[in-house]
Parts: sequence; structure tokens; C-alpha cells
Amino acid sequence: MQQLEALTREAVSLATGGQRVIPILGERETEVGRQMQICNACRYCEGFCAVFPAMTRRLEFGRADIHFLANLCHNCGACLHACQYAPPHEFAVNVPKAMAEVRGRTYADYAWPPALGRLYQRNGLTLSLALAAGLALFLLLAVVLKGSLWGGALGGNFYSLFPHNLLVGLFAPVFGFVVFALGMGVTRFWREITPATSGAPLRAPAAAEAADAVLRLKYLDGGHGEGCPNEDDAWTQSRRRFHHFTFYGFLLCFAATSVATLYHYLLGWQAPYEFPSLPKLLGAVGGVSLMIGTAGLWRLNRRRHPLHGDAAQKPMDLGFIALLFLTSASGLALWLGRGTPALALLLCLHLGAVMALFATLPYGKFAHGIFRTAALLRHAVEKREPNPIGLGADD
Ligand code: SF4
Ligand code: SF4
Repeated sequence: MQQLEALTREAVSLATGGQRVIPILGERETEVGRQMQICNACRYCEGFCAVFPAMTRRLEFGRADIHFLANLCHNCGACLHACQYAPPHEFAVNVPKAMAEVRGRTYADYAWPPALGRLYQRNGLTLSLALAAGLALFLLLAVVLKGSLWGGALGGNFYSLFPHNLLVGLFAPVFGFVVFALGMGVTRFWREITPATSGAPLRAPAAAEAADAVLRLKYLDGGHGEGCPNEDDAWTQSRRRFHHFTFYGFLLCFAATSVATLYHYLLGWQAPYEFPSLPKLLGAVGGVSLMIGTAGLWRLNRRRHPLHGDAAQKPMDLGFIALLFLTSASGLALWLGRGTPALALLLCLHLGAVMALFATLPYGKFAHGIFRTAALLRHAVEKREPNPIGLGADD
């Protein structure tokens, strides 16, 4: 199918003297376009989320429109349970599923480098756990060869096992690559959707509105503030709350690492840090929050209604959740076990989990936060512009 699309694109390009390449819609994008035409006639779900107001600004749905809308959708499931045309109706309208299938493809299509985009399909639970275990085993072997697996680094000084410069040399290039790869991917996405979303530049009020939507996870509130469905059609705030535990826990852990880096290089204060130091406070609160959030998201994911989203992406979702949980749990275990002979073992397990998390970040579920933020920013810009079908601005 992809080859046929590429050939068709090339034929159109040749027929137009290479001047213009008409975007060809794939099977999944065509399905979103079909459902959006039905929704545009119905409009029952207009108040549920940002997707429907954005939809009503369009009469036709090109590739960029569909990629934008797919990433604007939060897969809350509210429109599926409200829809009179949902399966088994012959119209078979299932917006969350159709959007999720396109959304998953956009991560791969805009990935950098493009050849690594296919890793999204392979990035699953088994691979994530195997990678974490493999890396931990590798580190364990290194420690065993030093003869310090049990009882090594007593007193909590893990730099005696893995020197600070070695850890920086291992993690800094991977972290740099993660930031660069994700930055390139979202830049490509932004460039494609900008002309389709008015082309107007991003200004402070739009950025503030999008930031508010991201930080509050506004579009998991079902449009009425009571939350979204999960295993059935009942509203629940659980998904929103566990996402918040995870998101803010991750940010606090990142802040802990950043502050520790400043302590090390600016003040010459070396780890390990103890209570009530700032890195320890941030790390402990962040780690517990991350564990609660990921445990909750795992449970909700396993119980999710089968018609929500794209079942093929579940392994990727679970792989990311599992690595976040392992990273936070092993980090807390490392802190609690700092005075015991098991410190070296716990350190290897923690470093293995962190390395596996870093290695899979650019080609896994983490991308959904980056792409969705970009879509929310463009939505906030677009809604401030005059409606292209002549109905005025949205607000
Ligand atoms: S999802 Fe169904 S009910 Fe909602 S706007 Fe679309 S067609 Fe109408
Ligand atoms: S699943 Fe939720 S976020 Fe996605 S289009 Fe439907 S109501 Fe909007």
C-alpha cells in the first residue's frame, strides 16, 4: 500500500513537471476523512474537545488537516459512547480508533532519521523489558568483574562503582540524541500542519492557552468536567489524575537530575545527596508520583474498552508505562537500599532501566506528548483567525 502511494505521488509529480506534489491520502487517512464528513454534518459532539470545533472550520480534509486533527484527539472515548452512528451502525463511526490509527502513523512518518520511524511498530512491552534487563545484566557483569557485586560501594558512594565521568559519557550523548531526534520530528510535523491551520504565527495568548490545556489535560474532562470513559460509558477522572501523577512525577525527577548536575558542576557538591537536599526532595516526591501514576495507567490500559483507540499500539503504550515504573521503582529502591550490601545490584538495575527508557524515548509513546502539544498550539493559533468558511473567528 505504501509503495503504491509513493508511486502515485511520483506519477503526479512527473505529470505536473515536478512543480507540485499532491498529497495522497492513505487508507487510514481516508477513513478519518470519511468519518469527519459524517461528523461535520452531525456536530453532536461539538463541545467534547478541540477536535470538533477545529473540524467545523473545514469542509474538506487533506493530509495535513487529518494529521493535525489526529494529534489533537486525546483518545478520551467520549464521542464513541455518544455516537448514534457507532458500530454496529452501518456508518461505523469510531473517531477515537480512526484518529489513533493515523496518529500512530504520524509518529513514524515524521520521525528523524526517517529510517528509524519503523521502530515505533517494534517498540513494545517485551522489547522494553528485554532492553532494560540486557543493559542491567551488562552492568552487573562489569561490576562482577570488579569483584564488588555484593557489598560494593558501601556508604552509598556509587561513583566508586561507575565513575561520574563514565556515567556522563554514557548518558549525555543518548540524551542529546533524544532531544535532537524528537525536535526534528516535531519540527517536520509543525511545518506540515502550519499552512493547514491558518499559517498564522504563534503568539503569547495562543501559547498560554495551549499550555493551560496541556498542564491541566483539559481534553480528558469529557467537555463537561466530569472526566472521560474508560472500560464502559461511565465518566471517570482516573485517566486524567493518573496522567497528572505520571507527567508531574516525570518532571520532578527531571528537575532532581538537573539540580544535581548544577550542584556537581557549579558548587562542587557530589552525590549522594540526603534529605532535606533539593535533589533528594524532588527525586523522592517525583519517584513516588511516577510510580502511582504508571501503576494506575497500567491498570486503566488493561481494562480499556476494546473499541477505544488502536489495539495495535497497546504494546508500545505498555512498554513505555513499564519502563517509567521500573525507573522510578528502582530509583526509590536504590535510595532505600543505600546502606545495604545490595547497593551495587540495585544501582545496575536502576541504570539499566534508565538507559532503556532513554534509548526508546524518541521512538515510543513519549512522542504523543510532544506531537499533541504541537497540535494544541496550532489549534490555539487557528481559532484566533477568521473562519475560512466564513463564519467568523471561534472566539
Ligand atoms: S462522533 Fe457521532 S455523534 Fe459525534 S459528531 Fe460524529 S457522527 Fe455525530
Ligand atoms: S476521542 Fe475524545 S478527544 Fe478524541 S475526538 Fe472523540 S471526544 Fe475528542
